[in-house]
Amino acid sequence: MLTSTILHSAKAAHSTIRRIRRMLHRNPELSFREYETSAYIQSELQRLGIAFRVMATTGVVAEIGTGERCVALRADIDALPIQEETHLEYSSENPGIMHACGHDAHTAMLLGAASLLKEYELQHGVSSIGGVVKLIFQPGEELSPGGASIMIREGVLENPRPEAIFGQHVNPEGSVGTVAFVSGTMMASTDELYWTIRSAGGHAAQPHMVADPILLAAHLITQLQTLVSRRLNPIHAGVLSVCTIHGGHATNVIPDTVELSGTLRSMDTAWREEALRSIHHHTEMLASSPLFGTAQAELRIVPGYPALVNHPATTHFARQAAEKLLGASHVQDFEPKMWGEDFAYYTREIPGTFWMLGVRPPDYDSIPSLHNPKFILDEDALPIGAALLAYVALQYLATPSRLALQSGNASPLSNFSF
Ligand SMILES: [Zn+2]
Ligand SMILES: [Zn+2]
Repeated sequence: MLTSTILHSAKAAHSTIRRIRRMLHRNPELSFREYETSAYIQSELQRLGIAFRVMATTGVVAEIGTGERCVALRADIDALPIQEETHLEYSSENPGIMHACGHDAHTAMLLGAASLLKEYELQHGVSSIGGVVKLIFQPGEELSPGGASIMIREGVLENPRPEAIFGQHVNPEGSVGTVAFVSGTMMASTDELYWTIRSAGGHAAQPHMVADPILLAAHLITQLQTLVSRRLNPIHAGVLSVCTIHGGHATNVIPDTVELSGTLRSMDTAWREEALRSIHHHTEMLASSPLFGTAQAELRIVPGYPALVNHPATTHFARQAAEKLLGASHVQDFEPKMWGEDFAYYTREIPGTFWMLGVRPPDYDSIPSLHNPKFILDEDALPIGAALLAYVALQYLATPSRLALQSGNASPLSNFSF
């Protein structure tokens, strides 16, 4: 397919994709409660004549094309517990809930890609796509355990099993018209940590008669900072942030409980496990120290998403496709972030790549970040993201799998004529 044809078709579909995005933006729903969103996606797929099934209650999986081979495209569909402050005319009508991570745009762009692929199939015949494109509309990206892990458990990567998977996220740091890639590790694992420190509490003027959970919490926070600064190889990335601390209610009372919570983020699986063991060990060791008397400390770890690792071969492939579609000057490197993203579960199962789509308006130096109540995006990015998804899928299926998944210096697309 000619790149100009797909871009032209995507631009012709711009108003439809924007209508879908605005409808979703106006009606955001929280993770795993995307009932209206799911129904709306299903109605749009029905309108396009694309078969689908429902998974993980609010997830939708559609398929276009026919044949032995399969490639998957994924969008997440959930919103965040944030009160919108953009004052857009299509602002959220659900109080306290907002599409502040751009998942409305992700969903609209995947539906846009669906319409482009359907149009292609109608124009060129039933076998023209060269296989099956599986479209995954996934719930619950923002909330542990993540919709991806549930969809995988329910078989989204089976019957047929995709050879590769591609997904995208809006990028407020990239200007509209650009796309950015990382080969290898792109985002971190995200474990949640919850501590409860208990003692009998007592009079502030008689600390020698009680165990002080506030002092123990202070030592714990300080000691844990050495984990990243002194136990992690400095050329690897890791973060431990204690982000909440609650305890006490009066200046003259040593409280009986202090609660802390935080996050451990890592790009390295071995260090992640070692760090979790070490946090456990430090918590127990401090609580058992005679300095803190009879204080007790409990640590609860809620395992988060694994680190997101892009396969070098699919990344090489998608990057080349993006260069063909958008021009090499519009394709950039993305600096890895310690964010979490449950797309990581898919790339643990099959080769895949997650890219960042620029959404910053060209006349802005910066826009509010993701998860900010003022987050906005330039809707001119919508047809670009839709075209790129459809184009990568079509090119993937048009390239023999042994070439498409060839990594290193080999250039799979150079063997393929556009
Ligand atoms: Zn988010
Ligand atoms: Zn997101």
